[in-house]
Amino acid sequence: MKLTGNLLIGAHEVAATSGTMKALNPATSAEIEPDFAFGTSAEVDRAAELADDAFDSYNNTSLDERAAFLERIADGLDAVAPELAQRASLETGLPAAQLEAETAKAATQFRQFASVVRQGRFRQATIDPAQPERQPRARMDHRMQKIALGPVAIFGASNFPISYSVAGGDTASALAAGCPVILKAHNAHPGASEIMGRVIQQAVEASGLHEGVFSMVRGGGNAIGEALVDHPLIKGVTFTGSEAGGMALFRRAQQRPDPIPAFTEMTSVNPTFVLPSALAARGAAIGDGFGERMLVNVGQACLKPAILLAIDGTGYDELRQALIARVEAMHARTMLTPGIWKSYSENVERQRNAGAERIAAGGKPQGAWDGQALLLEVDGERMLNEASLSEEAFGPAALLVRVKDVEQLVALAKQFRGQLSATLQLDAADHALASRLLPILERRTGRIVINAFAHPQEVSYASIHGGPFPATSDSRFTSVGMTAIERFLRPVCYQGFPDDLLPEALKHDNPRGLWRLTDGELSKA
Ligand code: NAP
Repeated sequence: MKLTGNLLIGAHEVAATSGTMKALNPATSAEIEPDFAFGTSAEVDRAAELADDAFDSYNNTSLDERAAFLERIADGLDAVAPELAQRASLETGLPAAQLEAETAKAATQFRQFASVVRQGRFRQATIDPAQPERQPRARMDHRMQKIALGPVAIFGASNFPISYSVAGGDTASALAAGCPVILKAHNAHPGASEIMGRVIQQAVEASGLHEGVFSMVRGGGNAIGEALVDHPLIKGVTFTGSEAGGMALFRRAQQRPDPIPAFTEMTSVNPTFVLPSALAARGAAIGDGFGERMLVNVGQACLKPAILLAIDGTGYDELRQALIARVEAMHARTMLTPGIWKSYSENVERQRNAGAERIAAGGKPQGAWDGQALLLEVDGERMLNEASLSEEAFGPAALLVRVKDVEQLVALAKQFRGQLSATLQLDAADHALASRLLPILERRTGRIVINAFAHPQEVSYASIHGGPFPATSDSRFTSVGMTAIERFLRPVCYQGFPDDLLPEALKHDNPRGLWRLTDGELSKA
């Protein structure tokens, strides 16, 4: 596919209106062709107007039509997989084979959401039939379904440049819900973004949909993202990235004259608790497994296990040695962007200044933005007194916490802020302690994992990739998995409607045979 670097506004290509950038190869520091256009609020206006024009027809596509559109995007991703992976690899320093697998995952997500659309359960069709004889007051017929929010702004993430970016789960779930999407492309991988953007643009056209269903903008600095969040025609926002960026955009969305929901996924250290019996039985294996997962994607994963807590005793030294061996065997690898490399270096320094001791280091950096694998250790007492040690260093570093006893472990569990996940490594003899920890962790995390690691994330119906602040700005929703669609829906009640004016999901004869809640009972009636 020939890259032009233009913005994709509906069916059109728009050249730069406020400067350009080149992609950067973080492994070599070399710039990569071509020039990529920056836009202004004028392009945001145009994209938002097109999205608003597209809304009614897109929101009213039949379930089969919409599902077929999502499948077309999946097929398009399959067709460009090698090319997309090559380009993304050049722009991120991540291995092409891994990125090809990520493309397959992205295509699968679109197919999974196509299936969600066909099932129609996301409408949550609910019917309370009229009760004309009810005393003391008759009840009118009430019917409820969920419809799409409206046009939404999606910020592509930097760290999984395909499955969390232009063709990621946010886009798939928003389009599945019936929301036109304006994508704010991440400047860390503009070429890969263009390839994915074109795949979606082509699928819009091939499906005979309104061109405003998808647009992709890019900008230098915050202005373009701010213009998107502020735009009166935008009705929802999703974001994955830093806490500072996520909170700035969340606050902006709340401070509009008409506040809108903003689902921002930000930061999580995904603590792992090793309980005493498991530690004694298999400390080395747990240390090795943790070491492997903390280094995936050069540690640039929202589910990277960053903090390992174990009570000092039998098995602790084995766990520590296995973890040290993993870290020392790791070559320094290119990080995604100079900015991410810089904040990694600063955050590790912050942890050392807060009292954590460096106990292992991987191979020395060769390139300018190579991230060196690091293992730090701190005792539980210090950790309790230094809340900043519980904060993220996004990159290939982890903190091992030498805990004094069970009471200290429980106190440390209570200290964590909201998390995407927490993990317990346990054996049968640890269940009593696990029962004390579980209510503490339930209040703080979106997912609790036993005897495995949270990463990688399954994309399925029960998946939750969310959690209390600061993991996300809204703990009621997930950004991964089939229920991610719920972020983009809102309920509408139709009262006293004649059948011909009712939406399909609520018609009396249930033409699609959908599961519906009628008078509180689930059926296909
Ligand atoms: P970021 O700086 O938060 O940026 C993410 C996206 O949001 C970019 O497109 C950025 O645009 C935009 N943006 C950020 N702040 C904004 C603001 N105030 N107004 C308007 N737009 C704004 O994240 P990043 O560059 O991907 O990585 C930086 C750090 O974020 C990492 O070091 C890591 O700590 C964290 N991170 C966390 C996760 C996670 O999964 N939890 C994932 C990725 C990154 P511009 O680039 O144009 O400014």
